[in-house]
Amino acid sequence: MKVVDHLKKTDKTQFSLEVLPPKKGDNIQHLFDHIDPLMEFKPPFIDVTYHREEYVFKKMPNGLLQRKTTRKRPGTVGICAAIKNKYDVDTVPHIICGGFTREETENALIDLNFLGIDNVLLLRGDAIKSEARFIPEPEGNNYAIDLVNQVMDMNNGRYLDDTLENASSTDFCIGVAGYPEKHAEAPNMKIDLKYLKQKVDAGAEYIVTQMFFDNKKYFDFVDQCRAAGINVPIIPGLKPITTLSQIQILPNTFHIDLPEDLADALEDCKDNKQVLEVGVEWAIQQSKELMSNGVPTLHFYSMGKAEPVYRIAKELF
Ligand code: FAD
Repeated sequence: MKVVDHLKKTDKTQFSLEVLPPKKGDNIQHLFDHIDPLMEFKPPFIDVTYHREEYVFKKMPNGLLQRKTTRKRPGTVGICAAIKNKYDVDTVPHIICGGFTREETENALIDLNFLGIDNVLLLRGDAIKSEARFIPEPEGNNYAIDLVNQVMDMNNGRYLDDTLENASSTDFCIGVAGYPEKHAEAPNMKIDLKYLKQKVDAGAEYIVTQMFFDNKKYFDFVDQCRAAGINVPIIPGLKPITTLSQIQILPNTFHIDLPEDLADALEDCKDNKQVLEVGVEWAIQQSKELMSNGVPTLHFYSMGKAEPVYRIAKELF
């Protein structure tokens, strides 16, 4: 079933989550152990992230470093199918431009279609660490909008090989990313919203936000989207802070601010046990306010840590 149909089914705020594929070599049972307790809150869908290749350096016997490319968390398509099978829940694979040709993307979409997966979250992806800015693959997609166009083409029975006759149409429900605090590379919010609107006008049916810790940023973003003519559901993305180091890591990685009250409370913590309490309590209060404003679902970035998300959801659902 499509994410947008799940959202239409009820006026109540639902619980959903995003998980990471296990690291290469890890057993999928670890991921199931992570998801098992959270199924108590009946998520209508579970997102699975996609991770592009990274460069690793291996020391050779002669002392020189050899550069190798590796994908540390492969398996998004297979994991989506495995979760869907095990829990009878809809899964949303993330599909990224970075590192893929359009043909490879098409083949992944064909696999997803055969597996009965109805949803995709379409993203550009970030630059790999050794590159200063995002560089698409030759023959690859450049922006998320290009992916939206590619999936919409397949939804209309148009594949890259235009000699195919009677090609069957896919019927993917498309989600895209939005940034309440602006995407880091956008010169300003107005231009970022212009490109977000392009994705929606091209066929995206819902938006999932980057994590934020100040609800006002989300409410303002929704208002700005509506004023710009973006009228699809906007799902808030949430993450509980669980370690002291995240005070720096989260703003640096995701280009977001921590509100003063939260940052002060975290700075007063003596250890990560106390941080976890502050982080969980903050997320509960954030969630309650979002729910009372009628958000369609609270979408939790579990990032390999189920327990804090379980505690928050137990308070709310
Ligand atoms: P785009 O929509 O392509 O936008 C990227 C930038 O280009 C923006 O600044 C935008 O304003 C600008 N822009 C857009 N279109 C144009 C245009 N036509 N011309 C000029 N400028 C343009 N990354 C992963 O690698 N894997 C994941 O699984 C993943 N999941 C995510 C889930 C969510 C909910 C979010 C919010 C992010 C996720 N990301 C993931 C991170 C994401 O890939 C990065 O934030 C990336 O830098 C931007 O992706 P996008 O889809 O928003 O890009």
